[in-house]
Order: sequence, then structure tokens, then C-alpha cells
Amino acid sequence: MSPATHLLAAGVLAGFSRLDHRGRVAVMIAGVIPDIDGLGVVPELFTRHSAHPLLWFSEFHHQLHTLLFAIIVTLVAVAFCGERLKTALFVLASFHLHLLCDLIGARGPDGDSWPIPYFAPFTQAHAWTWSGQWPLNGWQNFAITGLLLVATFWLAVRNGNSVVELFSTRADERFVGTLRGRLRSA
Ligand SMILES: [Zn+2]
Repeated sequence: MSPATHLLAAGVLAGFSRLDHRGRVAVMIAGVIPDIDGLGVVPELFTRHSAHPLLWFSEFHHQLHTLLFAIIVTLVAVAFCGERLKTALFVLASFHLHLLCDLIGARGPDGDSWPIPYFAPFTQAHAWTWSGQWPLNGWQNFAITGLLLVATFWLAVRNGNSVVELFSTRADERFVGTLRGRLRSA
């Protein structure tokens, strides 16, 4: 799914976790970080017409969508956060929610289902695929994104924080304040 949908899903999970600010940020990062293996798209686009194109996106995308990377991310999160067991569980859940979302709704325009090599780099066997996977731009993804937005607003009003705190706590305070103000005047 798109990075925005992954971020909203991770933000909603963080909202339900009732972890502190640092824990919630860890849960959100865990929900988007598998896609840093997609950053290879930049050099690939720039070099695609050259004599030696760098196929970093084609070759490495989804190579961090693995159990090993999930464990590394969880260990790093636990080192920086309190409530270690709860943080570990939510970070692991957030990472795997990302994998699940890619599994169900990330079919590429060329029909490629982007199998998830869960046990890489040890083996490329047992990669995750699902024959019912819908396209990246399918209506299902728009519907899920819409539902996640509603959940984001609801949790922001209830908890007093939202996914915006990943970028700035001050911007998040303003966002939550505006939402609550609108609700009160409605
Ligand atoms: Zn992904």
C-alpha cells in the first residue's frame, strides 16, 4: 500500500497502544520503515536510460520486508523506549501490519504481486503471496485509507495526540486543538 496508508495504519495502532510519546513514535516508524528498501527507486529512475542502469528498486524492493529486519527494528525500539515488553509487541505488530497490508493490496501496474521474502536473506523460499491481492490503486485501498482517517480523527480527539506527533509535537497539539474545537462548535 502507499506510504500514507501505512503511516495512518501505524498511527492508529499507536493510538490504541496507549504507550508514551516515544513508544508511539517507535510504533509509527516500525509501520513505515520496511519501505526504505524502496528508496532505490531514485537512483533507478535517474540511471534507467544510462549504459549501466542501477536496478536497485527492481532488485531490492521488499528485501527489508523480512522477519530479520522486524527483529532488528524491535530491538532498537526497545533500547530507546520504556515499557519494553509492550513496546516490543506493538512495534512487532506494526511492522507485520505493514507486511499484511502489502500482501493484500499492493499489486503493481504490471501485475507483479511483489512477493514478501519473509525469511530473506537466509532463504527466498516461503515468500508471502496471496492470489486475491488487489492493485495498489484499487478502490479497496482508498476505502481503507478513508476508514483509517476517520479512526485517526477519533483517536486524536480521544487521546489528545495523533500521527502528526511523528513530525512535530507542537503541530500535533495544534491539530488536536483544532479538531476538538471544531467538534465543540458542531
Ligand atoms: Zn512495503
